[in-house]
Amino acid sequence: MSSIRNTAPIRWLNLAVLGLPILVTLTLVPWYGFTHGFDATQWLWFLALISYCEMSITAGYHRLWSHAAYKAHPLLRFVFALGGAFALQNDCITWASDHRRHHLHADDNEHDPYSAGRGFWYSHLGWMLRDYPVTRSDLGNAKDLLKDPILLWQRRHYLALLLAMNIGVPVLIGLVHGDVMGCLLLLGFLRLVLSQQFTYLINSAAHFWGKRTYDPNQTARDNWFIALFTYGEGYHNYHHTFAWDYRNGVRWYHYDPTKWLIKVMQWCRLASDLRQCSSYRIEMTRVAVQFRHALQQCEQLQEASRWRERLEDEYDQLVLSLEQWAEAQQLWYQAKSQALSDELQQDIALMKQRYEELKTELQHKRESWKSLLNNFASVQLKTI
Ligand SMILES: [Zn+2]
Ligand SMILES: [Zn+2]
Repeated sequence: MSSIRNTAPIRWLNLAVLGLPILVTLTLVPWYGFTHGFDATQWLWFLALISYCEMSITAGYHRLWSHAAYKAHPLLRFVFALGGAFALQNDCITWASDHRRHHLHADDNEHDPYSAGRGFWYSHLGWMLRDYPVTRSDLGNAKDLLKDPILLWQRRHYLALLLAMNIGVPVLIGLVHGDVMGCLLLLGFLRLVLSQQFTYLINSAAHFWGKRTYDPNQTARDNWFIALFTYGEGYHNYHHTFAWDYRNGVRWYHYDPTKWLIKVMQWCRLASDLRQCSSYRIEMTRVAVQFRHALQQCEQLQEASRWRERLEDEYDQLVLSLEQWAEAQQLWYQAKSQALSDELQQDIALMKQRYEELKTELQHKRESWKSLLNNFASVQLKTI
């Protein structure tokens, strides 16, 4: 594998397009900052534009076009297409096609264009710098996107758009603000380099550090710290398990500004058909991973059979409780949507009561399962 990697010809254009902004950012940006300074207005523009770039990738290129996690109004798609050119991460059809292959063949060095199996550097940036056969785009998996007139327009005028966005926008703001050079450096170069590097962290860092909560058999990880820089895309193990969900951070407190943006767009009637995995399925997947992991660890303990029995018993009870709760919820929701007569209203009240009871019971089972896992972990520690 390493011989293929080292002999692949360098992509000089990519090297220049990615490398030159980094060089300017490391030299001219700090020099200008020390000699002339950047004011608060420029920093506010910086924050707004880097957010626009990153969210065009996360909400647009990624969740909308690569995974069809929701539908978007043409106006929103147009705004994202412009933002994607601003982020300078290739045209959307190529990006989404590569990304779909990344999901289909995750960690397979022969088919995943930015496989983490080839190391941190390769998955972060290296895959773009040489002409590796696996990175050559094949748009066969993006036929749906090849019918999108906005994406075809972006692809056709990509060079003009990226120049207009990356040079035109900072210069225009600079003319209004009165500091063209400062705006070009801060809003042109620093914004571009940081937004690109933050996105690349999803392919590299989010495949190396964090928890594998939903699928332990792949390198993708859940990492809240990476989510801070990637507008919510740090919950990458969840994402690789349920890629069609419009959310990456599924809990309400998970930092995922992209899911909040999509939700706000729904309120504004610019997004619709948001797809999301049921909380039942998410929890079942999570506890199944915990159960299998604990069973494996059991073998190393002295009282392995006793622990195995306890784990199986608690797990079975939790799963049963989850199933009953989910079923009661579904029945109640269905009845609510159909009910008209007084008689049916009474049935609904009973269904609701049953649902609430099962919810309380489930909460107890969850606590009991959690405490068993904690006990198990402390026994394991003592054994070590
Ligand atoms: Zn990934
Ligand atoms: Zn994805």
